[in-house]
Parts: sequence; structure tokens; C-alpha cells
Amino acid sequence: METVNPADLQLILDEIAHSMAAATDRGQPATYIPELGRVSPDQFGIALCLPDGQQLSAGDAATPFSIQSISKVFTLAIALGRLGDALWQRVGREPSGAAFNSIVSLEHDRGIPRNPFINAGAIAVTDAILQGLQPRDVLAELLQFLRMAAEDDNIHIDKSVAASELAHAHRNTALAEFMAAHGNLQNPTALTIGTYCHQCAVEMSCVQLARAGRFLAGLPGCPRPVSPSRIRRINALMLTCGHYDASGDFAYRVGLPGKSGVGGGILAIAPGRASIAVWSPGLNAQGNSKLGAEAMEHLGRATGWSVFG
Ligand code: GLN
Repeated sequence: METVNPADLQLILDEIAHSMAAATDRGQPATYIPELGRVSPDQFGIALCLPDGQQLSAGDAATPFSIQSISKVFTLAIALGRLGDALWQRVGREPSGAAFNSIVSLEHDRGIPRNPFINAGAIAVTDAILQGLQPRDVLAELLQFLRMAAEDDNIHIDKSVAASELAHAHRNTALAEFMAAHGNLQNPTALTIGTYCHQCAVEMSCVQLARAGRFLAGLPGCPRPVSPSRIRRINALMLTCGHYDASGDFAYRVGLPGKSGVGGGILAIAPGRASIAVWSPGLNAQGNSKLGAEAMEHLGRATGWSVFG
């Protein structure tokens, strides 16, 4: 396994942040959640955690942003811990090849979403962990998981983002109702969607997110909330499904498991080497951070980090 000297890595991060600050085509922040549409696209941050415990960053790496769908990695970890393989009766493990909020394949697949990272799948996962609990219990468990993984108690839900998404949740509600029609929803739709919108509204900085992802990279000396075999499986799903209909492109360009969110964040995992978080609010056509994906590609090229050797 090649190692990159931390001093060289810091230079690489500085160079990435410098070139991203100068980028003119930055994509558009998500506007279907109005509160996210208000975030300035002129921001870029990157942070990474290394096996020796070092943490490097550049740009707006300490600025909190809405993690949105990156929360789905952590709710999946919680759900697998709670339900084990029984979870796979409710959600598949195949790339969807469709947009993150697509309803199309749900009809074909009789209410079983293709994977846990598209909205329908994540809603089914949230519904599964909500069973027998109140939304506040599930959200407290998620926050506790994130704070423990990041070893940082300053991680919270942005209530105005949650309210903004909830007020425009027609499409996610439709996905939930469609699953309910097929018997794949256990709780009242409003409870599940309310919980889901709040989980997506967790805000974290790149530094906090990179720290929370250390367990997925199997870095030594960090909390280990999930077994190694399960970590491998979560990483496999991130690689194949983490960027929706751009998952193949991200795997091709970056070669690392990754999960994006419409807040403009991406968490990427270089197993055994680094946990990496990037953020820039402007999105590309597939709803993934435009500069975030470019930065990850640049980092991959400069370090040689790839799960493909
Ligand atoms: N909360 C967002 C939604 O449900 C999450 C989507 C995303 O980040 N891709 O639409």
C-alpha cells in the first residue's frame, strides 16, 4: 500500500482548494429545498483523516453544511445493527440507474426500493428503525451515533432545513405512500417522512464528517460501531449506489466508495488509508456536488488512492 507523506497531502489539499476557489462553473445549489437554495455556492471545503490520527483540511472545512443523503450511510449502519440481514427483505442492493428521487422502479419492483441510498430505499430504512420508537428516539440515536463516530458532541439538526424540506416533501411522501400500498411501510407516512426529513437536516462540517467516516475506512484508534464485515458491505453499496445514476461515473473517475448529498457534501472512503469529506453546494445534473466530485477526482489522481489498486 503506497503511503503519501502528510506534508505532500496538505499541499495537494491546498492546491485543490485554491483551484476550486477559482472555478467559475460551480453548479447550482438545490432549490427544491428552499433553505438549501439560500446557501452561497462560493464555498468549498475538504478534510481528511489518516491512519496515524492526523487530520488535514483546506478551504471551508470547518463550515457546517446540511449532510442530506450522506445521513443514509449512518441510518443504514444503524438499521443493519438492529435488524441484520432481515433489512434486505425491505430494500434491495442494486444500483438504480435512476435519479435519487425516482419513483419509476418502485412500481416494477412492487414497492421494494432498489437500494438503501435512493430516497425510497432510505425512507424504507428509516421506517425500519422507527418501528416501535418515536421519531425523537431515532433522531437521538442517529445523533448519538454520529457524535460517537466523530468523537464530537457538537453535531445537531438544522431545524429550519428540516422544516423547509418537510413543507416540500410531496415527492418523498409519494414514495412512502407507494411503498405503503405494497405493504412496505410500517409506520404512518407522516411519522416516517418527518423523521427522514430531520435526519437529512443534520449539519456537519467536512472535518466532522471525515472524522465520522473513519470507522468505514477502518482507521486504527477510532470508535468501531460496526463490524469489519458489515463495513465492507456498506462500502460496496457506497461504491455501487452512493451517487445514484452517476455511481458508475464516480467509481470510474474516483475509484472510491462515496456518498453524496444534495447539500453538496461527499463522504469518500479509501479503505485503510483515509476518510475524506468534501463540500461545495453547487450540484451537477445528477444532484451531486459538482466541485466536490472534481476535487475527489483530483485527490485520487494525486494520491493514487483507489480500491482498484
Ligand atoms: N433530503 C433529500 C431528499 O429527500 C435528500 C436527497 C439527497 O441528498 N440526494 O430529497
